Amino acid sequence: MTRALKPPLTWLVDLDNTLHNASHAIFPAINANMNTYMARLLGENGGLADAVTVNEARQAYWQKYGATLLGLVNHHAVNQAEFLHEAHQFANLSTMLRYETGLKHLLKRLPGRKILLTNAPRQYSKQVLRQLGLHRCFTSHIPIEAMRVHGRLRPKPARCLLQKILTRQKLRAQRCILIEDTRDNLRTARQLGIKTVWVTQYLKDNKHFARGHFVDVKVHSVKQVPAYLSRLSF
Ligand SMILES: [Mg+2]
Repeated sequence: MTRALKPPLTWLVDLDNTLHNASHAIFPAINANMNTYMARLLGENGGLADAVTVNEARQAYWQKYGATLLGLVNHHAVNQAEFLHEAHQFANLSTMLRYETGLKHLLKRLPGRKILLTNAPRQYSKQVLRQLGLHRCFTSHIPIEAMRVHGRLRPKPARCLLQKILTRQKLRAQRCILIEDTRDNLRTARQLGIKTVWVTQYLKDNKHFARGHFVDVKVHSVKQVPAYLSRLSF
């Protein structure tokens, strides 16, 4: 008797702090841009809000919603496109990028489809992918603008977003693998039966946490993933 063939694997791959070191210069620049935008937004009587007020709001929204944008949309009705555009203005993106060589070869070695799944905006993530030389490595690109469920913005770690992607792309959760640095995103994916890889090398604070029941494989670099292929694809 022959065993039924399993459906191919699908890799859901995060961008920032997974495929490149966003903590080095890009996140600090985005945070500074967001602070400038939010100081104007939260200021009273046409003035600018102070740095403490702005930082607290930004961190609170990031923690509560997984994306600052979502907090601003929910609490201040900001224009999504305008905010994303302003937050992702860089003097020279290519000089700010830090990443490992060999990522293209790595992605080619992973069997199955690869989908880029990032809470970053479309234009920025396209630019970064191109700089990394990975713009032909993904069959789909799901940026934050595409993370709407029932008309509402639902970025990672929203469970309903992952469910929608599985349904839309006709994927079986057990044949999907999420590669990520953000633990909350891995946790939701695992609840749905998606396998999880935690990439830690670009994390500043929480890389020393225990693996957690929702992490199937913990790696320093995404380049170590092929060594765990049999564990992830059984
Ligand atoms: Mg990330």
